[in-house]
Amino acid sequence: MDYSQAKQQIEQLKAILWENSRKYYVENAPTMSDYQYDQLMHRLEDLEAQFPELATPDSPTRRVGSDLEEEQGPESGFAKYPHKYPMLSLGNTYSIQEVEEFAERAAKSIDTAFTYCCELKFDGTAICLTYKDGVLFRALTRGDGVQGDDVTRNALKIANIPHRLHGTGWPKEFEIRGEILMPYESFDRLNHERELQEESLFANPRNAASGSLKLQDPQEVGRRGLFCTLYHIPAGQVDFPTHDDALKAAQGWGLPVSEHRQICHNIAEIEEFIGHWDTARKDLPYATDGIVIKINEMAVQRQLGFTAKSPRWAVAYKFKAEQACTPILSIDYQVGRTGAVTPVANLEPVLLSGTMVKRATLVNEDQIKALDIHEGDWVYVEKGGEIIPKITAVEPSKRRPGAQAPAFPHLCPDCGTPLVKPEGEARWFCPNTTGCPTQIKGRILHFLSRKAMNILAGEATVEQLYNLDLVHSPADLYSLTENQLLQLEGWKERSASRFLQSLRDSRKVPFERVLFAIGIRYVGETTARDIARHFGNIDALKLASREELLAVEDVGDVIADSVLAFFQADENLREIERLYDAGLQMAVEAPAQKTSSLLEGKTIVISGNFSISRDEMKALIEAHGGKNGSSVSSKTAYLLAGSKPGPEKVKKANELGISIIDENQFFDMIGPAEEVGFSVTKMRADVPEKPTGSSAEPTPGTDFPSLEGDVFPGASAQFKATGNTSPSGTIEPSLF
Ligand code: NAD
Repeated sequence: MDYSQAKQQIEQLKAILWENSRKYYVENAPTMSDYQYDQLMHRLEDLEAQFPELATPDSPTRRVGSDLEEEQGPESGFAKYPHKYPMLSLGNTYSIQEVEEFAERAAKSIDTAFTYCCELKFDGTAICLTYKDGVLFRALTRGDGVQGDDVTRNALKIANIPHRLHGTGWPKEFEIRGEILMPYESFDRLNHERELQEESLFANPRNAASGSLKLQDPQEVGRRGLFCTLYHIPAGQVDFPTHDDALKAAQGWGLPVSEHRQICHNIAEIEEFIGHWDTARKDLPYATDGIVIKINEMAVQRQLGFTAKSPRWAVAYKFKAEQACTPILSIDYQVGRTGAVTPVANLEPVLLSGTMVKRATLVNEDQIKALDIHEGDWVYVEKGGEIIPKITAVEPSKRRPGAQAPAFPHLCPDCGTPLVKPEGEARWFCPNTTGCPTQIKGRILHFLSRKAMNILAGEATVEQLYNLDLVHSPADLYSLTENQLLQLEGWKERSASRFLQSLRDSRKVPFERVLFAIGIRYVGETTARDIARHFGNIDALKLASREELLAVEDVGDVIADSVLAFFQADENLREIERLYDAGLQMAVEAPAQKTSSLLEGKTIVISGNFSISRDEMKALIEAHGGKNGSSVSSKTAYLLAGSKPGPEKVKKANELGISIIDENQFFDMIGPAEEVGFSVTKMRADVPEKPTGSSAEPTPGTDFPSLEGDVFPGASAQFKATGNTSPSGTIEPSLF
């Protein structure tokens, strides 16, 4: 390969890896398997080794993937703090031979005897806990390795993270690292709930753990069944001869450290450990994706040091994605609340990564054809990086002679109505929205769900209410009486009164959530909020034209058409009228009092960190008549960029010729503080002292002797301020 070919391939690989790293760490929704990702990374490493002049400091081979939620939606906003010692990744391999080479390399460069501490590689999301005077002081995510998001409030809700240490001998202040995991059982439960609400499913327990740790609602974090396991105290803070001794001490202080580790003296023992856990891990209640082999002696660790991205004294041996071959027993065609029909294969039960797999989605008709599925086929089921089961291929040698391809139904499997396939849709739909029982029950269930109206009832109650002819639409719920509820099996006065109370409480649910609860196709939580805020109340929304709908940030043709179609149907208008009569909120509460119209009609996207919090910046934009956008599009007036703005947003703004302004330009734009009635100067002065940049960055200690200075360019970035001044103003509910 010549230089220019290598250059081109390196650029391509970098772009693919960056993109997938963002999907994996920030969106928690990977679209390629870990194995594929690692193969591409190894290819890039090889090319960079062959052409060192093409290896740049920002290459994914030299930086850890970042989970910082800069690029996430409007709810994002954790304070960021630097790690005392950078949080790195691990070199990884899928080959025992490379583990042997790792051991040989270490033996060659070290002239004293040493041992290995072999541990499970827990497949969750990394956490760094700091204890001060024996009390949990801070919990940070790995972030970009240099600084992490402060998730302390969430960590305090994770049952096995001690708020206070036991025993004696702990350092006055120290960091300990580990992983936050979601056990399979909690993961299955969470995804089941999400499935009922037709929310996107988490691909695997790792993504679910990582997404849950970044929630803004600590109570919800507490409900997600997360737990923590700790595996590393950076050297320099404690003085133990070995890594294993440090972990034993941590255990003595009441910290959760896994028992599943073993001191190995040679490669044969390491291989035995790997062999044992390759099978035994399937019985663990949580996901592991490999074995970490660490040199146990701290002195040797210090001698070997670090590369830019990982310690030289450790390596991860990764297990390949588990696969199983099992026959399809039958195919169900499931109708969702929107009428979409999804084929689901019922499988001969098979054990895969700790859970018994009985069903796997076949996605849609096109996917059945693409896989060439025939009735009774044996299929390969995979949990790529422990992903929820997916059928990856058919085993042709096991096909029964004469087996037929399944015929996708033409009629709704529930109500018998002929299915339709709207243009541009890959899925078939049952158009009988008002009469199809599954759709009706699905809509009621969605309406009740926690993120919608949060009414205390689940699938079984909805089933009973529907079967007893008591409820056919969400509005019917509000006419239920105690006597009617007492007809439900197992219901007593207490359950009925709790249910009726939660119905009364739901009258206070804001319009944004009511709009989501109504269940307009394609209108998810965020879109509902954007639309609600844009139009202010249901009447304005009912009258909105297509153009007006398209003016809402992130509303495209599909959503606009779906909203229009929804409000054209008489039965929907009647239902909304009944919900209105039941006392539900049908208008947004006015946010802060408007202080000027200087930004009227302008959509501004903010990115990066400012001298005031991002929420305050957004409130300022709205107070001056502007709108906050979540992504850069042709409708964006400005990209307001703070320190470390998201590269994707900057790139998009440049491509579209959108002006990029900084904080000072923005403040100049909205005028002096007195004129606009908002104390901008005060807010700037109020920003509390925060660690800002390299001066606040602790010099890596003995734990990181070989860190290169240019490896973490983020180190000099500003950290997010948490000044809490917010625009004050009277709340004036607008009229319906
Ligand atoms: P990693 O997950 O391969 O290994 C490092 C991490 O392992 C550490 O940060 C730590 O959190 C964890 N870990 C678990 N048990 C440990 C133990 N006993 N000791 C020490 N650390 C332990 O590395 P990473 O940097 O977090 O992620 C990179 C990997 O993520 C890639 O190799 C790839 O497999 C995957 N990835 C996949 C995609 C995708 O699209 N599928 C995208 C990006 C990254």
